[in-house]
Amino acid sequence: MLGAHVSVSGGLHNGISNGEKFGCSAIQIFVKNPNRWQSKSLAQEEIDRFCQTWEVSDQIEEVIVHDIHLTNLASPKPDVLEKSRQHFQAQIDLVCQLGVRYLVKHLGSHTGAGESVGLQNLSRSLDFLLEETRHTDVVLLLETTAGQGANLGYLFEHIRRMIDDSRYPERLGVCFDTCHVFAAGYDLRTEDDYHQTFEKFDQVIGLDRLLAFHLNDAKSEFHSRVDRHQHIGQGHIGITPFQLLVNDPRFSAVPMIIETPQMDKMHGQNLKVLKELKGNS
Ligand SMILES: [Zn+2]
Ligand SMILES: [Zn+2]
Repeated sequence: MLGAHVSVSGGLHNGISNGEKFGCSAIQIFVKNPNRWQSKSLAQEEIDRFCQTWEVSDQIEEVIVHDIHLTNLASPKPDVLEKSRQHFQAQIDLVCQLGVRYLVKHLGSHTGAGESVGLQNLSRSLDFLLEETRHTDVVLLLETTAGQGANLGYLFEHIRRMIDDSRYPERLGVCFDTCHVFAAGYDLRTEDDYHQTFEKFDQVIGLDRLLAFHLNDAKSEFHSRVDRHQHIGQGHIGITPFQLLVNDPRFSAVPMIIETPQMDKMHGQNLKVLKELKGNS
């Protein structure tokens, strides 16, 4: 299931048509302005229009929502934590109304308070939110991160701990971002690296938790802990793992979403590269 992060400018339903235009069978969207706390709440009309547009689409099978960039569920600051929780809870409810299953979330940052404090805050936040939204079946996909600055989630063990600490582990899954994992120090460049990294993932988290991919090549170097996406096959990761991924029978039902640069201009090209790799193993 191949797709892309697409724009919803002009209304959420445009995400569906933008995805169709690029030949996607899965899309990822933001449902709120990702860089702003304040954004007007969605009218029921817009929610209905999205649902109807998706319903009649014979192409888009899966829609994934990505959380906004500002929420930090691991923050040591009570006011930030509170605001983040409120915001995130509203997004879970919205995602549920849209009929979407998966909401992707970064693990957040400890902002200097130390990893163990950050992870503890995060696991409390997750339990609180899953409890408050127990009337929904929205699954939170914790995204592997590059570990830039004080960001958590660059070790598979961080994600394992969130699952172990949760009272609702059935509502937690993982979004595996190739660029982030590579920048975090899990190599993917050769066939051996690829198999070792997924074996490690399986040992620590379990492949059954891997419910979505972000396919991005990396502009940043291996183990640089820097998050910079590049077009497929044009970065430091190279084409090999992408070829293995799109042909890996373990992941044939898992949505694979590109988040590569210049979406309007380049999404078509990047998806074409991936489609050509399919069956070409
Ligand atoms: Zn990502
Ligand atoms: Zn990234």
